Amino acid sequence: MTLRAGRERSITRRHPWIFSGGIADVHGRPAPGDTVLVESDDGRPLGLGAYSPESQIRVRMWTFDPGAAIDDAFVAERIVAAASRRSALLASGTDSARLVFSEGDGVPGVVADRYGDTIVVQLTTAGADAWREVVADALFSLPGVRCVYERSDADVREREGLDARIGLMRGEEPDPGLVAHEASWRYVVDVAGGHKTGFYLDQRNARAAIARLANGRRFLNVFSYTGAFSVVAAGNGAADILSIDSSAPALEVARRNGDVNSLDVGELMEADAFTALRGLRDRARQYDLIALDPPKLANNERQLEKASRAYKDLNLLAIKLLAPGGTLLTWSCSGAMNADLFQKVVAGAALDAGRTVRIVDRLSQPNDHPVPLAFPEAEYLKGLVLEAE
Ligand code: SAH
Repeated sequence: MTLRAGRERSITRRHPWIFSGGIADVHGRPAPGDTVLVESDDGRPLGLGAYSPESQIRVRMWTFDPGAAIDDAFVAERIVAAASRRSALLASGTDSARLVFSEGDGVPGVVADRYGDTIVVQLTTAGADAWREVVADALFSLPGVRCVYERSDADVREREGLDARIGLMRGEEPDPGLVAHEASWRYVVDVAGGHKTGFYLDQRNARAAIARLANGRRFLNVFSYTGAFSVVAAGNGAADILSIDSSAPALEVARRNGDVNSLDVGELMEADAFTALRGLRDRARQYDLIALDPPKLANNERQLEKASRAYKDLNLLAIKLLAPGGTLLTWSCSGAMNADLFQKVVAGAALDAGRTVRIVDRLSQPNDHPVPLAFPEAEYLKGLVLEAE
């Protein structure tokens, strides 16, 4: 494949994506997921990547060494190396971690989360899909793995022309009572029916922050999912807890999370968060600690304006509910929204609420979601810890 003149620049800077508009010529008829040699317009070989004919991101680079061989051993070695980079984390008070984080680990389109003896895999690109058996074998070969389960049902597969695939890949069916252990707590992981791979490993830093902040405080957990934050707060002496989510199955798991930890996780409210927050505001409720962790509200740049308004509404309502001296933990997991814009949106909310609010900390994705310096797009989770006067 030959790039247009000048379009080799990002590749020589080790950025792994080639957009369709950057391509001058495709040689032969590569199938989805085939490895293609990428060349500059003057014929200089730049590396090898996976071809995705249906996607705007037409090629994702495997390597910037044009002489490398992309074969079973190459892919297996990347998977095993990524997993081994998590061994210190997995020896430090948790049995659960993201083992493979797509471009963050040099394996575009492959996400693998480990929960104890179970690994849940998401393959989101044609290139990843082409190597699914190799990926499954490599993960199943890791020590102590009983089950490798596939949850390739993310919407992004559609953009790659791939159908959803859910089911057992290797070993035994997942345990319906599967729990992730982290710090002193257990979290039920619904591998087959939960969101994504079943649990938000990416909020590990937040759980640690809430453990430090919860004691004696009235806690409002908005977009609670399975109540992981509520478990931590309950276990660390929160005075009173309200968890809000629109998903009844997620709240049912939140209830089970209370049981498996022998904790009272407080009230679980099935509701639309925007409506519920307005209701709490109208009843002049006050909280000392609020977590606001909405789903991705902007999928791309075009949705940014609308998403900014939604983030602002949510943060405005949350800031109004903060008692004097209260703490708000607020996130955006939209890759399309950068940290600067998010901070500006939250600043606008504080202004409209008429409150003086200070940033006292920032919460990012944890170290099993690494961001290559050459690929800042991997950084998607931005969190602010705010204190209101
Ligand atoms: N903080 C959670 C993860 C939140 S994921 C954790 O650490 O586990 C986002 C959640 O928002 C999902 O559980 C989803 O069901 C919920 N959600 C999406 N739209 C919603 C809405 N309009 N109102 C309430 N909850 C919503």
